[in-house]
Amino acid sequence: MTHFFKISAVIILTVVSVVSCKSTDDEGAAMDLKAENRKSLGASSEDILSADNYSKLRIEFLFSETTKPTIESKLLIQDFVYDRANKPGGVHIIETLIPAPTNETFSLDDIREIEDEYRTQYTEEDDIAVSVYFANGHSENDTETSVTLGSAYQNTSIVVYSDTLQEFINGTGDVSLADLEVLTTTHEFGHLFGLVNISDDDIHTEGHEDTEHSKHCVVEDCLMYYASSATRAAIKTRFENRGVESIPELDALCLADLVAKGGK
Ligand SMILES: [Zn+2]
Ligand SMILES: [Zn+2]
Repeated sequence: MTHFFKISAVIILTVVSVVSCKSTDDEGAAMDLKAENRKSLGASSEDILSADNYSKLRIEFLFSETTKPTIESKLLIQDFVYDRANKPGGVHIIETLIPAPTNETFSLDDIREIEDEYRTQYTEEDDIAVSVYFANGHSENDTETSVTLGSAYQNTSIVVYSDTLQEFINGTGDVSLADLEVLTTTHEFGHLFGLVNISDDDIHTEGHEDTEHSKHCVVEDCLMYYASSATRAAIKTRFENRGVESIPELDALCLADLVAKGGK
């Protein structure tokens, strides 16, 4: 069992400064409609959090037969976003079943292609859209000692590696799939909200961003801690200690930064 505890589960943040899109003439018009959702991570944090430009928010869950998130996860993710973002018109979830890609591992380019092919919800009028893809596979960056649970890779795009989550809970009776789906998805939403210092505009000039794990929070008990936490054993302990309140919340530093961007 020793090797088991050495495996770290790092929720890797991927910062993409320039997003290139393959485009042909036929796809030109479609690309224009998607342009608002093809920006770099953090670029829409204020639009997601405040009601200034968009009063409503749609979250599209993309999944295949084996990766549909639990009903509990769906409700908790919806509540999390509703509680943090000022969207008087509501936060709505749209579920889209897609064919299962045959990849066992995915690069972020693979993920972008899948999103491009199957995502149906794009930002329009006063309704901003976010895509969360629950992938039936693993990140290509996984090694014997670390796995990626999810990534926020564009301004409104998240991938959750559902197969990795399902393998992670095997053998740990104290962590449910719903717990990990909510933990991973809300952590990645935190990055879409601009946490921590994604756009180098954090209101705290020091003491908030973890200098060793950039774009994450120094507060160990915070949802935006770099690996909500580092090892299987640590995650297990964390969930055991918390009991029913198993999902970490945002700490005061993260909340203040989020409020400064129009959130609540
Ligand atoms: Zn992260
Ligand atoms: Zn924090």
